[in-house]
Amino acid sequence: MNYRKFIPTILYLVVLFLVLSWASGLMSGTTDSVPYSRVVELFQQEQVKSFVVKDNTITLELRSPVNGRTEIRTNLAQPEQFRSEYESLFQQQHDKGILESYDFIPTKSFTAYDIVFPLLIVGAVLLVLWTLIMGRMNGNNPMANFGRARTVLGVPDGKKVTFADVAGADEEKEELEEIVDFLRNPKKFTDIGARIPHGILLVGPPGTGKTLLARAVAGEAGVQFLSISGSDFVEMYVGVGASRVRDLFEQAKKLAPSIIFIDEIDAVGRKRGTGLGGGHDEKEQTLNQLLVEMDGFGHTEGIIVLAATNRPDILDPALLRPGRFDRQIQVNAPDVKGREEILKVHSRDKKLDSSVNLRTIARATSGFTGADLSNLLNEAAILAARENRPVLNMEDINEALMKIVAGPAKKSHVQSRRDLKTTAIHEAGHAVAMYRLPSHDPVRQISIVPRGRSLGATWYLPKDDSSNLTRNEMYEQIVGLLGGRVAEALYVGDISVGASNDIDRATKLAKDMVARYGMCEKLGTVSYLDDGEVFIGRDYQNTKSYSEKVAGTIDEEVKSLIDRAYEDCKAILEKDGDKLQQVVSYLMEHETMTGAQFADMMEGRELSEASATALTDGYGEEDSE
Ligand code: ADP
Ligand code: MG
Ligand code: ZN
Repeated sequence: MNYRKFIPTILYLVVLFLVLSWASGLMSGTTDSVPYSRVVELFQQEQVKSFVVKDNTITLELRSPVNGRTEIRTNLAQPEQFRSEYESLFQQQHDKGILESYDFIPTKSFTAYDIVFPLLIVGAVLLVLWTLIMGRMNGNNPMANFGRARTVLGVPDGKKVTFADVAGADEEKEELEEIVDFLRNPKKFTDIGARIPHGILLVGPPGTGKTLLARAVAGEAGVQFLSISGSDFVEMYVGVGASRVRDLFEQAKKLAPSIIFIDEIDAVGRKRGTGLGGGHDEKEQTLNQLLVEMDGFGHTEGIIVLAATNRPDILDPALLRPGRFDRQIQVNAPDVKGREEILKVHSRDKKLDSSVNLRTIARATSGFTGADLSNLLNEAAILAARENRPVLNMEDINEALMKIVAGPAKKSHVQSRRDLKTTAIHEAGHAVAMYRLPSHDPVRQISIVPRGRSLGATWYLPKDDSSNLTRNEMYEQIVGLLGGRVAEALYVGDISVGASNDIDRATKLAKDMVARYGMCEKLGTVSYLDDGEVFIGRDYQNTKSYSEKVAGTIDEEVKSLIDRAYEDCKAILEKDGDKLQQVVSYLMEHETMTGAQFADMMEGRELSEASATALTDGYGEEDSE
């Protein structure tokens, strides 16, 4: 935007120019202001030797001086009228030789001059501005690429990415293999008339490797990779986005076979007519241009458009029509096996201690994306480097994981003994309840070291990744979640706000069981909740699809489910009060307890060595507070 600094200069020059030309106009118009009647008189007295009328000015040469001058100049209000009135007189005097010469110079119209001149100035200013904008004056002018696509040609860091760098995404890679094949040898496909998709939409949450996959396709096929982010199309200036789209496809055609990758396509591909407020006209233009370009290239041109989004639901349906992004590839967060493979890929360039067990980390990081896992190993490496250790150990990873899950440990945060005890009782309550619930996942670690906003935490280790929970498993999760609150009620004698997150989660689970999964007899196998997304401007209506009466029953059932879970939990914690107190004392002393130690304590065994590498015993999700 450095053209701005030229604006004052330009304005200054323009004003100076105008003032000067105005002044010179005044100067040339300087007249003797002889009255019109006197001019006529001079003619009648045969005093005029010659005259010239130009524009509104008459210049007279006189035979004898008037006011000491033989040449006078004055204004004529209406030169045309003057001419027609005295034309015969001039003729007469000319024939007689009195008036030696006279001339009416055809007006190089004063008004035309008036119009043309400012136009020239405006044109000049526009030219200067345009030159600045197009960056012709200045090689590194940021405005140079104003209307051009802000594409990145080739992979950003210049590193070639292949499928080997994308771990765990086997299904996704398999689907993309066909595209790679086509880009490598388009002729093979076009010869037999095979139709290759124009556009492929990679759909998945952030960090799952969509960008990585797109780059890998280009790397595998050895073709040019043009990437642009959807938000780069979105500009305040109408028409710029559309011209960028045009430019992008032009570039791609020149480089074909090539891949166009539009990251975060939702920024430009939103459903039309949904935006509140201004600015969506520009977006619609851009989107329309994208649609036009997608239709505009044939199947033989060797261009494939990949796009990534985590919100396919908000995309304009026109984008998903045949011939455009007619194929979607779901890119999901990896499963246990995938996570282990991703960890392997990302630990290739790191030295790991023999204590590090990638499988255990993978089990502990359910729900982590590739980006999260990469971040985890990086954090661990930073921790090791800080202590000048050349190799990473399990403790680093343990610490890094805690940091990521709940923010950096705040050991310095001094809790009062009483608060600490409340937290210990709360966490012990979770742990003991979980331990006694037959289908609940085993406890992995208990901690009362404050992290982030939470005072303490009990992690459990999911046995597998299954998201297909049974009714009993869900119920036992509710009981486990209530463990903290129940323990507080039983053994602190008062209850704290520390359990609010537990209660939220328990309530949500109970509500899902009752109203979503049809797990309660009274309401039958009917789903009353619906996941309909609410978008401003479109589906603004309420999605509630049940009566007040049903709503009342849902509330009743949720409450009775939670009440039952509360009583069950209370029974467990009363029966195991001694064990719970033992856990509390241990926590008060050591602040953390591993799952193995906890199991030993529950079974009345000698506690195993407090191995800091709690991970060897498995890892899990945070359960409380
Ligand atoms: P997205 O585009 O889906 O948001 P990215 O492709 O940008 O995700 O992934 C971010 C980073 O996470 C990658 O650069 C890579 O380091 C890591 N990553 C994600 N998925 C994988 C995977 N399947 N294998 C290896 N690394 C991955
Ligand atoms: Mg991305
Ligand atoms: Zn809790």
